[in-house]
Amino acid sequence: MKTRTLKKDKVNIITLGCSKNMVDSEVLSGQLSANGIKVKHESEKLDHNIVVVNTCGFIDKAKEESVNTILEQVELKRDGKLDKVYITGCLSERYRHDLMKEIPEVDAWFGTMELPLILKQFNADYKAELIGERMLATPKHYAYLKISEGCNRTCSFCAIPLMRGGHVSKTIEEVVAEAKKLVSMGVKEVMLIAQELTYYGLDIYKKRALSELLKHLSDVPGLHWIRLHYAYPSKFPLDILDVMRERDNICNYLDMPLQHISGNMLKAMKRQMETQEIYDLVAAIRDKVPGIAIRSTLIAGFPGETRDDVEQLKQFLEEVRLDRVGIFTYSHEENTSAYDLADTLTSEEKEARAQEIMEVQQEISYEKNQERIGQEYKVIVDKLEAGRYLARTEFDSVEVDNEVIITSEEELPIGDFVNVRITKAYDYDLEGEVV
Ligand code: SF4
Repeated sequence: MKTRTLKKDKVNIITLGCSKNMVDSEVLSGQLSANGIKVKHESEKLDHNIVVVNTCGFIDKAKEESVNTILEQVELKRDGKLDKVYITGCLSERYRHDLMKEIPEVDAWFGTMELPLILKQFNADYKAELIGERMLATPKHYAYLKISEGCNRTCSFCAIPLMRGGHVSKTIEEVVAEAKKLVSMGVKEVMLIAQELTYYGLDIYKKRALSELLKHLSDVPGLHWIRLHYAYPSKFPLDILDVMRERDNICNYLDMPLQHISGNMLKAMKRQMETQEIYDLVAAIRDKVPGIAIRSTLIAGFPGETRDDVEQLKQFLEEVRLDRVGIFTYSHEENTSAYDLADTLTSEEKEARAQEIMEVQQEISYEKNQERIGQEYKVIVDKLEAGRYLARTEFDSVEVDNEVIITSEEELPIGDFVNVRITKAYDYDLEGEVV
């Protein structure tokens, strides 16, 4: 096999999957760079000789994408365009023993908690003093801030605890220090992420400490927007909403995956919550923070899901009118407790149910957006694309939610805030003019 030698190693990191994986790649980049190794993220140019693929192993589609990406990189190595291919992340954590037999061209496989071992591969040392420091792969005005790793929940469909282990919170001091570093790098908005955000502190402080953490983060000078993702509905700590209401720099936004609403499905999914409790929780959240935007994630096609379950979910959306909804089709994951259930629906049937449910939400999103016409909002300008600026209100997170499209003669400050009046509204996105 022809090898391609560069005078000095240069590494490209490819990240698949979720924002938590993204943070891991950013931490790896920071450590490699601090050891004098040239590193970049998602580079399209082939001016590197080593690639690290940070994989996702969550559901079938994600696993397929990860395997295809590995095969592409191995192909480049076979063609002498790469010297080394290293694989890390959830797919590797979960399947490396099988995969290393199937794809022997890969030089090394690493799990999700093996950063020092990856660095050793580069004769690099793990620099503990760099905790909280990373090379951002996001535009520099926003960043993901991971407050814990792993999960102690037992949702029957979920393989994440198999790949990420049990829940481990970072200390408030660590998270605040990381936030300050991010602000010093130009970050104005942070998305708080975890596998299960609301569990924060139960391990290290023996109590739910998210509201305390939020107060400390909200006090960080220069942090304009703090956004909450991956809140778990069961035993939801309502006190975080008091902090959200009182602090202007905590967005009136909450991402809270619900997965389903019917009693039958919530029980089979082991979501530790009843239908009525969810209705009551959404009402309590809106009562505490009027005008809050609630985002949720649902699963279509879970084993045993009846027509009536689907109708209940559509009725829930019509009655509760969530602001943002994402949906996955059920993926039958080995070693999860749902794997013992009969996965009888075809992927086409699952897709059809997901489509049916999202059509209900699309209508709701359109109607809600109409109500925003004429209103004025502070937005953060993310980018200029095809001559128009794309921005977001505090009710919209990056990559998953709605955008505000702004056509402006004058140049707008990318990565900064402007005020706009909404002039047009579509199913999801809005149009606005600067005021
Ligand atoms: S809360 Fe449930 S769905 Fe989320 S990571 Fe934990 S086990 Fe998985």
